[in-house]
Amino acid sequence: MPQPLSLFTRYPRLAEQLPRVELAQLPTPVIALPDLAMQTDVGALWIKHDGETATPYGGNKVRKLEFLLGNAQQDGAKAVMTFGGAGSNHALATAIYARQLGMTPIAMLVPQPASANVRANLLMHLNAGTQLHLFPDKERLAAGVANERNRHIQQKGIAPAIIPAGGSSPRGILGYVNAALELKHEIDAGELPLPDYIYAPCGTMGTAVGLALGFALAGVYPHIVAVRVTEPEFASEERGRALLQETAAFLQEHDASIPLPPFPEKTFTLRHDFFGPGYGVHTGEDQDTAARFEAATGMPMECTYTAKAFGALLADAADGHLRDQNVLYWHTYNAHPLAPHIEHLDWHNLPEAFHPYFITD
Ligand SMILES: *Cc1c(COP(=O)(O)O)cnc(C)c1O
Repeated sequence: MPQPLSLFTRYPRLAEQLPRVELAQLPTPVIALPDLAMQTDVGALWIKHDGETATPYGGNKVRKLEFLLGNAQQDGAKAVMTFGGAGSNHALATAIYARQLGMTPIAMLVPQPASANVRANLLMHLNAGTQLHLFPDKERLAAGVANERNRHIQQKGIAPAIIPAGGSSPRGILGYVNAALELKHEIDAGELPLPDYIYAPCGTMGTAVGLALGFALAGVYPHIVAVRVTEPEFASEERGRALLQETAAFLQEHDASIPLPPFPEKTFTLRHDFFGPGYGVHTGEDQDTAARFEAATGMPMECTYTAKAFGALLADAADGHLRDQNVLYWHTYNAHPLAPHIEHLDWHNLPEAFHPYFITD
């Protein structure tokens, strides 16, 4: 029997109110890294390993998709439409698990810099049978959404369920409210002390905001360092406050006993100094960070999200700010190798718009 969700244990009424599909194996492991802590001048260092949320594809999106796809399924959706960059981990996770649940995945994508990760994720879509679309700009994306929606209504008699970029709607964010309560449970069980600092990458903010709300509900306030890796329209202090309020209100709608905690201004920092020149640009510094992490842990790190967050942690440690502190790095990237799923696949089978990602010279 899988363990009940910490969120549902704490607020049993939610379990009756909120549809959810079980995709994740929770709790995810907490791993201590004493050697790396010593080498980097951090008091004590742990990883919360959300790379292992699920097989075949882990990472942070799975926690959100348990609620989002549960809702789509309850609504009787036959297809699920979502959004992201060409190599979006979110679009891929949505596609894999929507397909597993018998729904057709539709990914409405926009360009991002080419990389091995982008290519691997695109090939993975061939296995999921995703309907892939690439739009050069926002106007054409909006027109494409309207078109696809109409086409599906005509063909299937029902509109596709819409999941926002990154899965960061109040319903999706519940996955990380639960994750904070899950960590609190692990702290109470003596697996680790309450961290002074938690570092996590911040893309569409659902991960960081969900953690902030979950800890506030639990009455503990580790300092959350959310390292922005996307353009400011997706991640800003203002959006973080709004998302936290909307998510708390959403919870209260389903269980009136749940309070509306204020945004934890003093213990939430959105870091803007590791974004670099643009979304998905891999700098030499990111590559060094990823190599160092992989050598120390044996876990894969990528350079669009995780290397930027861990890079901020290493930089703060190098400045002496984390000496004597208990620090948790929340690892959000899938840990399971994709190569066995894609090495036999031919990129020519992708829609032509995606071929430039594979033509390297
Ligand atoms: C999507 C993603 C993030 C960002 O999470 P948000 O909840 O959108 O802020 C971080 N790391 C990885 C690996 C991701 O795929």
